Amino acid sequence: MDEITAKQRIEKLSGTLTTYNEQYYMHDAPTVPDDVYDKLMRELETLEQQYPQYALSDSPTRRVGGGVSRAFEKVPHAVQMMSLQDVFSFAEMRAFVERCQAELGTPAFLVEPKIDGLSVSLEYRDGIFTRGSTRGDGLVGEDVTENLRTIAHIPERLSDQAPPFLEVRGEVYMSRKSFAALVEQQIENGESPAKNPRNAAAGSLRQKDPAVTASRSLDIWIFNVQQIKGHTLTSHLESLEYLKEIGFPAVIAHSHRCTTVEQIESEITAIGDARSGYPYDTDGVVVKIDDFAAREELGATTKVPKWAAAFKFPPEEKQTTLREILLSVGRTGVITPVAVFDPVQLAGTEVTRATLHNQDFIRERDIRLGDTIVVRKAGEIIPEVLRSAVHAPDSVPFVLPEFCPECHTLTVRDPEEAALRCPNPDCPAQLMKRMIHFVSKDAMNIDGLGPQNLAALQDAGLVHSVADLYALTRSQLLELDRFAEKSADNLIRAIAASKENSLDRLVFALGIRGIGSRAAQLLCERFQTMDALLSATQEEIEEIDGFGATMAASVVETLAEPHMHQLIERLRQAGCNMTYQGTTVEDMRFAGMTFVLTGTLSTMTRSDAKQQILRFGGKVSGSVSKKTTFVVAGEAAGSKLEKAQALGIPVLTEAEFQRKLEERVVPNEN
Ligand code: NAD
Repeated sequence: MDEITAKQRIEKLSGTLTTYNEQYYMHDAPTVPDDVYDKLMRELETLEQQYPQYALSDSPTRRVGGGVSRAFEKVPHAVQMMSLQDVFSFAEMRAFVERCQAELGTPAFLVEPKIDGLSVSLEYRDGIFTRGSTRGDGLVGEDVTENLRTIAHIPERLSDQAPPFLEVRGEVYMSRKSFAALVEQQIENGESPAKNPRNAAAGSLRQKDPAVTASRSLDIWIFNVQQIKGHTLTSHLESLEYLKEIGFPAVIAHSHRCTTVEQIESEITAIGDARSGYPYDTDGVVVKIDDFAAREELGATTKVPKWAAAFKFPPEEKQTTLREILLSVGRTGVITPVAVFDPVQLAGTEVTRATLHNQDFIRERDIRLGDTIVVRKAGEIIPEVLRSAVHAPDSVPFVLPEFCPECHTLTVRDPEEAALRCPNPDCPAQLMKRMIHFVSKDAMNIDGLGPQNLAALQDAGLVHSVADLYALTRSQLLELDRFAEKSADNLIRAIAASKENSLDRLVFALGIRGIGSRAAQLLCERFQTMDALLSATQEEIEEIDGFGATMAASVVETLAEPHMHQLIERLRQAGCNMTYQGTTVEDMRFAGMTFVLTGTLSTMTRSDAKQQILRFGGKVSGSVSKKTTFVVAGEAAGSKLEKAQALGIPVLTEAEFQRKLEERVVPNEN
């Protein structure tokens, strides 16, 4: 390449990468895959090394990508939040290790999974979480404290050994399970689905409404101490141990100490083999010098420390042939095109299908029947079609039909949504999906009504609405091939039993857009009866912790639809319970334990505390006996506390009780 061409290419690449940075960091919406970005960045770095005179002073190779949105307050970072130098092969990793060894002799390295999320700083004063911010451009970030408070595993308060001031750095991520649930919900709502867990996490954290962040089930790993006062740490491993001790979810369990390049390579291979089983995405492995003094000696560039390197895994992409595009009609009428292709192996499983989302997605990638397409798994979990590699001979662009493929009603397209929708509430395909949801485990929990039995009932003309399930008789079932006497009796019994469900299950079963089972429970805790919920205003619903304007509007609008009114009335007539009966158990950490609450609690009411105990499978009693497991004693606790002490029953302070509630179930220790 001659000098003039190199200069032009440097300018072009700098501009392109700056645009990609803006899309990725500011809008949480990348337009190219990471490996494409990485290749362009590598090209720019190489050219700048050859022609340093043409490197721009604000080149993307010299700046930490990202910036600060005006929607948030700015937070200056006293200690710069740097990026990491990337390596893409063992040879490059070996060169990094040898550079370190040439300076330091035989330093110890720590090898950790590189969690694919977004970097945040958390500040603690006297053990209390006071401020949290994004990385931004590394020097100034965005204040997202309130949003971070919604992440259950960020401790609000550290243990008593916490130092007077501490700033830690961690990676906020969305687990693959939560990502899959979010994408499903977004598709059902006709919204553009998040591209991968990393962007979903960044988009969820950088929200103006903390209630939206709260609904996204984010999590965090803490991997670094940025600043500490009142305590001295001399190495990374020591600091991870210390962080764990004072109450953080630190990456310690995944951090391996190595001294040779061979050990480092074998750790990278081990993480590479294990990572498809992790509950979160990892895009590489970070190798870092353990000793802090040695780190100082090596120093940093304006963008990255010289004492660490990130080994990036190549993305797994496969080519296959697109055989068919199926059209699936969802519970709310959204019509989703689904690609069916020749089987390929991706991240350990055989894949044959992937959603094509909507017409815009198909048009932008010009995906046609018979094409050779490139597929991969987003977040190593959700198959996706990346692009068409080669068009099939004589192929034409694929256009979604104007009519619902099931009931042939003319479809509609909301101007704000990319999705096509069948507006017919009696569409049999929609009814089928609604019934599947209605009877599912977390909804009305009716056993014996799998999709095939539901299809048989629908084909026989026995159900036109979920309310018809409650009018089914034994003899009607026996007329169908799929039921014998015993299975018919069991089903009738299961349907009858479902009438007794607590109201929150029914509210969830109604399939209101954006209302999952937890939100249904919160609604019922607040309004207690169906009638109260039906007359609730949007403002009242918005007051519930965890609800934003969109969710509240969805509840009010859906419940006001005449169709929904009729359905609720029919369910009432059929004898379905319309009152809330209490908390659903979330996990059984307090199984077999009986708590007694006494005194005044400062951070919650007694009734809240009781709900929390029930939520985790425990019992609450009004009096202390030998059977009591714990007494929780607030301010001015009286005779119950004395009795507990006399009987030798363990007494928890409010803070200790809080910690039990927040105790982390560590995500996969592998
Ligand atoms: P990076 O994500 O490659 O590495 C740095 C980050 O790793 C740190 O901010 C840190 O938070 C995180 N990390 C996770 N686990 C860690 C651990 N155990 N120890 C230390 N750090 C850990 O660098 P970056 O500057 O944040 O982002 C650059 C990358 O982002 C690019 O390589 C590219 O893959 C992607 N990107 C893509 C686009 C696009 O358009 N597709 C645009 C910009 C950036």
